[in-house]
Amino acid sequence: MKFNTKTIHGGQQPEETTGAVMPPVFLTSTFAQSSPGEHKGYAYARGTNPTRTALEKSFAALENGTNAFAFASGMAAVDAVLRLLKPGDEVVAGDDLYGGTYRMFTQLFEKYGLVFSYVDMNVVGNVSSAITKKTKLVWLETPTNPLMKIADIQAISLAVKDINTTILIAVDNTFATPYLQRPLDLGADIVMHSATKYLGGHSDLVMGALMVKDEILAKELHFIQFAAGAIAGPMDAFLALRGIKTLHLRMQRHCENGKAVAEFLKNHSKVGEVFYPGLESHQNHEIAKKQMKDFGGMVSFKLKEATFRFLENTKLFTLAESLGGVESLVNHPVSMSHGSIPEAARLKIGITDSLIRLSVGVEDIDDLLTDLEQALNV
Ligand code: PLP
Repeated sequence: MKFNTKTIHGGQQPEETTGAVMPPVFLTSTFAQSSPGEHKGYAYARGTNPTRTALEKSFAALENGTNAFAFASGMAAVDAVLRLLKPGDEVVAGDDLYGGTYRMFTQLFEKYGLVFSYVDMNVVGNVSSAITKKTKLVWLETPTNPLMKIADIQAISLAVKDINTTILIAVDNTFATPYLQRPLDLGADIVMHSATKYLGGHSDLVMGALMVKDEILAKELHFIQFAAGAIAGPMDAFLALRGIKTLHLRMQRHCENGKAVAEFLKNHSKVGEVFYPGLESHQNHEIAKKQMKDFGGMVSFKLKEATFRFLENTKLFTLAESLGGVESLVNHPVSMSHGSIPEAARLKIGITDSLIRLSVGVEDIDDLLTDLEQALNV
């Protein structure tokens, strides 16, 4: 199956008893047994639920994995990956991460004895140099949130596995989605998503996903999902599955609109730097071109002045947390999504007060550009 078919049919079968084309929402916590341990494959809904199973099969198909797991949030999915490690283990992570991931690493897991180092993953050699005998996991985002930096997944995977084949490589693929890039095909071991974003696509749920291609890793992650319990509920699983069926259509338009917005901003006198991997001026444009099918709908930029005035005056771009829905959103990373990163750490990598992040939706591009122009001129 090609990708655009997989979004609709990947891992899906009509429901067994009725032939329902969409899986019913199995709102049940438990399943009848004919004798202790004798059941139809489902025992207790923390372990498995048929609606979640349908979604997890779709997740696996999208990323060319063998298994996938749906969690209560993106952060619960990150948490499950970190639970594969033990005190003393080291993690090499990108230096530009979603603020909540950084917060989880520094404020939750450091106290359990995990050791994190942060490197600029633009340069593959930075990753190799940070690896020690204790490194068990490399964690990367590409494109990064919010600076849209690109890491070469294949080159990093090869370099890391060359040092030690047992080090796991996990990629947060939230910004790109499997429509644009599939990290498991490029050598990664684990793909993570905030399915809250493009996979769900309609800003109506909070969910996380992990996809893998190795059966042993799949068993370990399923055990963690079951034992720690941060599962996605059946109603959210249904909504995510419905959203995924139009992922390819939405992404195509997000990419078209994202490119037009980036070009518009680049040529605007009130705008400073624009961060969009589709621009030839982007420092990793060539890697992005090699690794991604297109460049997505996320665009960050710096305003020369009056940042808050702009943020308060967009009309179609709603000022709100989150991204990846059909509607356009605008975010101020310093006070919103990345507020938990200490000032010195964020300034070091360029997350300044004038930085603005746009999630460009699928509205008519003329209306979006008109909105940006009027907000820039207030
Ligand atoms: N990873 C990225 C790149 C994100 O943007 C987010 C949320 O914004 C997360 C992870 C966390 O996901 P969630 O909010 O679904 O817990």
